[in-house]
Amino acid sequence: MEDSAEKKPSSSSVASSLYSSTGTTKEECERMIQKSFRSPTVKFLREHLEKAGCSVNRNFFKAIECDKQISGGYLREEGILVCSNHMTFQDEVDQVIIHELIHAYDDCRAANLDWTNCAHHACSEIRAGHLSGDCHYKRELLRGFVSLRGHEQECVKRRVLKSVYANPHCSEEAAKQAMDAVWDICYNDTKPFARAM
Ligand SMILES: [Zn+2]
Repeated sequence: MEDSAEKKPSSSSVASSLYSSTGTTKEECERMIQKSFRSPTVKFLREHLEKAGCSVNRNFFKAIECDKQISGGYLREEGILVCSNHMTFQDEVDQVIIHELIHAYDDCRAANLDWTNCAHHACSEIRAGHLSGDCHYKRELLRGFVSLRGHEQECVKRRVLKSVYANPHCSEEAAKQAMDAVWDICYNDTKPFARAM
């Protein structure tokens, strides 16, 4: 997956390290992916992808083993990848699927979305981080971040920077500038949700 990062439009997600994760097998992870389709949020996003003309069937999702500390990723041509060796609980798989489905939705609705453009990438990461609930305070407490005031936005920012900086086309400085430039618009763009969870 990492080798293909420069050739294919992609977005990888930083591992959330919620639990002292031992990981699972690819087979078990495939089973958990199947189970995530029962999550109301996953159902909702798949319905909206279909409405937008980008149906995602079971083959769109794949469990793989990842070398890097990432939880999963979205590749335009390949679909959504979940890193089985960094997944232990169903909740983690659901979370990755929801986050990556938001990237797939962005890719679907914006025909000109360019993953090599740091601002485009930052915008989708802001939305995925905010709308997936990646930064819900319970998850932040588990990660050991205890500051509650403004924690959600700080958490989204931290994760956006990591993801965009991992993009071979974006330096640390470019990632920061891109995120700041698009923050307000993208943070407040909650489509297809009526508002953030
Ligand atoms: Zn992402």
